[in-house]
Amino acid sequence: MKPIIKQYAESDLFSEESILRTIILFGRNVSTYKFALADVLLNKDLTTALSYTDVRDDFVLSLYNHYQNNPHQYQGGENTITKAFDAYEQDADWNNLIKVAEKNIYNNVFDAFHNVGGASIKDELVLFEHDKNSKQIVITDALLKLKENEALVSQLVLENQTRWNIVEEAWKNKLTPNMLVFNAEDNSISSINSENERINLRSAVDALLPYQHGKCFYCGRQLNKASDTQSADFPDVDHLLPFSAFDKFSPFQQISPNGFWNLVIACKECNRGASGKFDAPPDQMYYTKLINRNRLFTEEHRHSLRNTILLSLNVKSAIQVEKRMHQFQPYLNIFNGWKPKLIFEA
Ligand SMILES: [Zn+2]
Repeated sequence: MKPIIKQYAESDLFSEESILRTIILFGRNVSTYKFALADVLLNKDLTTALSYTDVRDDFVLSLYNHYQNNPHQYQGGENTITKAFDAYEQDADWNNLIKVAEKNIYNNVFDAFHNVGGASIKDELVLFEHDKNSKQIVITDALLKLKENEALVSQLVLENQTRWNIVEEAWKNKLTPNMLVFNAEDNSISSINSENERINLRSAVDALLPYQHGKCFYCGRQLNKASDTQSADFPDVDHLLPFSAFDKFSPFQQISPNGFWNLVIACKECNRGASGKFDAPPDQMYYTKLINRNRLFTEEHRHSLRNTILLSLNVKSAIQVEKRMHQFQPYLNIFNGWKPKLIFEA
C-alpha cells in the first residue's frame, strides 16, 4: 500500500467505517464488482454468515441496475458478465444470468474485495472472511458493528454509489480528457468529455467528503448532508485559496480557483459562520494538508480524480502537483492565516 494511502486509512484510527471507505475509495478497480458487493453488504440484513446463494440475486441486481444506466462496468470494455447482461435484455432469463454470474464472479469478488492499492487489508481488520469450502462469507464483528449505526450506513451507501458513478463515468470517457469542473450555482460537478458535452456527476460534496472521513477540512466536525443549510454541521464547498488571491498573485493567473485542486468540504460554521473563513487565506497548515490531499489523488494512477487535479493545475505528474502548489506558498506567507476557533478531536 502506498504510504499516502496508508496514512489516510490510519488517520481515523482504523474504525470500521474507515476500513470500508478505504476499500471503496482506493480499491484498484478493473470492474465495479467491489461497489456492487459493498452495496449488498450495506443494504442487506446481515447474519453471521451469508452463502453464495444469499448474496447472488442482490449482487447481480445491483450491478445490473448500474449496467442499464452505463454499460462501462469493466475497464476493458465487455466481459462475460456484460455479455450475460446483454443476453438477459433479450431473453429475460434471470436464472441463466445468475448461473453465469456464479460461475465467473464470486471467487474473484470475495477474494479481491479487501485489496487496496496492491496490498491486502490486515486479517484482523477485514469485514468478512471467505470460506470457499462451505461457499459462504463469514461476517466479522467489525461489519456487524458498523451496521448498527443506521445513519452511517445510509451515508456509506451514498458514498459508494457516488464513487461507483465516478469510476464508470471515467471509464466511459476513457479518462482523458476527463476534466471535472465545479458548478457553484447548483453545487454540482460535471465532466467535460472530448466532444465538450457536459455530463452531470452529482455534487462536489459527495465526491470529496469521503476523503475527509466525513469531517470538516478545517475543524474536524462531523458533517451531515441531511442537516438544515443553516446548521453548523451542514457541508459547504469551500475554495481553500480565496478568489481574491487569484487576480493579485501572478502564479495564480493561469489557474482556476474552481478547479478541484482548490476545493475542500467545510462545515457551515467554518465557511460562513460568525468567525468563519469567508474570503480569508487559511493558515499554512491547511495548505500543507491540501497538498497532501492532492498527492493522494494523483499518486494513484487509476484514481478517477487524478486527471482532474493534474489538468486543473496544468501539470503532468504528482511531483509536479507538489511543485506547482509550492509556487503559491509565498502568497500565504504574508498573512496571519485564518484558523477555526474550535477544533474537534478525532
Ligand atoms: Zn469546520
